[in-house]
Amino acid sequence: MRKSWLAPSFIAASLLGASIAAAQPMTPPNLPPPLVDWDKVQIKTTDLGNKTYMLEGQGGNITVAVGSDSIMMVDGQFAPLSDKITAAIKQISPLPIKNMVNTHFHGDHTGGNENFAKDGVVIIAHDNIRVRLAAGTVSMVNGVRTPPRSADYLPKITYYGGSFPVETGGRQAQLSHIANAHTDGDTWVYFADADVMATGDIFNNLKRYQNIDFANGGDVRGMIRAMDIFIKTAKDTTKIVPGHGPLATKADLTVFRDMLVTSHDRIKKLVDEGKSEAEVVALKPLADLDATWGNNAQHAESHTRNVYNSFKRF
Ligand SMILES: [Zn+2]
Repeated sequence: MRKSWLAPSFIAASLLGASIAAAQPMTPPNLPPPLVDWDKVQIKTTDLGNKTYMLEGQGGNITVAVGSDSIMMVDGQFAPLSDKITAAIKQISPLPIKNMVNTHFHGDHTGGNENFAKDGVVIIAHDNIRVRLAAGTVSMVNGVRTPPRSADYLPKITYYGGSFPVETGGRQAQLSHIANAHTDGDTWVYFADADVMATGDIFNNLKRYQNIDFANGGDVRGMIRAMDIFIKTAKDTTKIVPGHGPLATKADLTVFRDMLVTSHDRIKKLVDEGKSEAEVVALKPLADLDATWGNNAQHAESHTRNVYNSFKRF
């Protein structure tokens, strides 16, 4: 049995976390429990070379590319951190931030949109992000609705599919859409001049199951398709900024992809046999992976449900 490590206090903590999340109606999906003391969050800057940087604070990782007269950033974390993030970027360069890419709509990546837009930053994203933010979304975790966002929160420049080049102060970024992966509006970004790839939440380098937001178009098959593209694009020396976790390498991508493929194969077999979601969860088809990739029993079960529901999207 692999449940022996679940001490009662750990189960209680999980349940507590769930009830806290349920009490916070503004909490978007895929967020840590909203108990963050924003004053204590520090922004850590890592120099990736060629005037390109990774910023870590609370929420999704940020990539910063400094051009000749302005700056581009990828994702913006939570609204209460915008001043700290701006200050951290000022430490890198006094130039203004011109563009910010949203890799997907989740609040731990787009929470700063309004603040940055009011400072004149133009937000760029796949059009499905604009649609979802404008309409409001429903959390797959607790069914709670996030209301429609303000005009300033919405991306001003959007694209629909394939690739979309963005230039800021001579820095070229290639934005590419992956259909139905972590959500239905995912963009990953490649800075060829620095050999830096920003994956958004299609990939984490925490060695943990990643949320697949099937209620908003996420699908394990798209996650695997994306990982195949990342692995094909990356060299051994490519610096990979994951959605969450420390800076990654191509080897980390491969390990994560293997986890997804195993999850896909085992659960698809059960789906094809006609098993219900409850039956698949009860069978614990990923028990050997859960010990490594699950934060706790609830997180592991969520992953199984997310993969199962990927096959029920159509
Ligand atoms: Zn996300």
